[in-house]
Amino acid sequence: MTASEVRSLFAVASRPEVVSLAGGMPNISGLPLDVVGSLVNDLVAKRGMTALQYGSGQGDPALREQICDVMRPVGIVAHPDDVTVTVGSQQALDLVTRIFIDPGDVILAEAPSYVGALGTFRSYQASVVHVEMDEHGLVPERLSAAIAAVRASGKTIKFLYTIPSYHNPAGVTMTASRRAEVLEISRRADVLVIEDDPYGLLGFDGEVPRAIRADDAEQVIYLGSFSKTFAPGLRVGWALAPHAVREKLVLAAENSVLCPPAFSQLTVSEYLAGHDWMAQVKDFRETYRERRDAMLEALDDLMPAGAHWTRPSGGFYVWLTLPDGIDAKAMLPRAVTNRVAYVPGTAFFADGFGSRSMRLSYCYPTPERIREGVRRLAQVIEQEMEL
Ligand code: PMP
Repeated sequence: MTASEVRSLFAVASRPEVVSLAGGMPNISGLPLDVVGSLVNDLVAKRGMTALQYGSGQGDPALREQICDVMRPVGIVAHPDDVTVTVGSQQALDLVTRIFIDPGDVILAEAPSYVGALGTFRSYQASVVHVEMDEHGLVPERLSAAIAAVRASGKTIKFLYTIPSYHNPAGVTMTASRRAEVLEISRRADVLVIEDDPYGLLGFDGEVPRAIRADDAEQVIYLGSFSKTFAPGLRVGWALAPHAVREKLVLAAENSVLCPPAFSQLTVSEYLAGHDWMAQVKDFRETYRERRDAMLEALDDLMPAGAHWTRPSGGFYVWLTLPDGIDAKAMLPRAVTNRVAYVPGTAFFADGFGSRSMRLSYCYPTPERIREGVRRLAQVIEQEMEL
């Protein structure tokens, strides 16, 4: 295990004078704390003996039913028996990896991919093979080619890990036709798909992409989370898995945490039952859309020629590629001196690629700070181009 580049950055980036476009912290300032506060009070008063007790390893049954409702907008019709509640979707990633991976097994993942997943994969000694993506998401032909190449080398592919909607860090969304193709290729090659979807409801165009899992309950394990649509501090996520896998997931979960925290689960459950959660999600969408607009506008106005970036239709991130010859990691100390931080692209590859790229997050800073951050970043890039 090694510290991720994101992690070692947090100390510097959190200084108040630095505009951090680095972290992916959700903006929870819109949460009604008074509502959550009285809900928690009531929870302890009325259901304290359950909320403060151990619970089921698979998770609270009522919450698992509510999670099935939460997945309806992305087209998923599921049975609560197939849902396992986890400590954030990060634990679901850990459990899935633990169940499937023997050292040296191959995981296919987009290039770039989520840094937290790469860390988990590495900790189980999986070998990650990246598959190219473009502005429409994972490229199906590249997926077929990667499967063939890995198998020709005699290695075992255990699964494809994909973030089809509002990708972290790439900021792109897989089109519907690509989703169908990726599913078809995975079926034919018998490669399990891990669909990681924490941002799926946070689209800005009023449209919610249909999950890959909506079209195949056997080939796909779907991971969800309340971290971006409610509160990451509660650490409540889930895995929706075919029956046989679900049994192993629960065993693995019990071996690691006995059960997910009852208190957090019941807090989420009461919130979903008693409040207009979808209205809250819409508010989050509005906030992030405004910030996405601020970032794209600032980039359009201020970035020097030669830089290019993605235009996300949801989620938290823009992926920016620097003009030829500039290394994002080498530039970072100078950016921090100029009071702006980002995550260098190499953090999102298992194999050292991505040195010309960076992830910019617009989720946390205000629109004004985003513009100021982009202004400082553009200055540093221009200085770098003069060197
Ligand atoms: N997957 C992706 C793609 C993420 O961006 C994150 C959080 N940054 C997670 C999983 C983990 O989220 P959590 O454990 O809070 O549910």
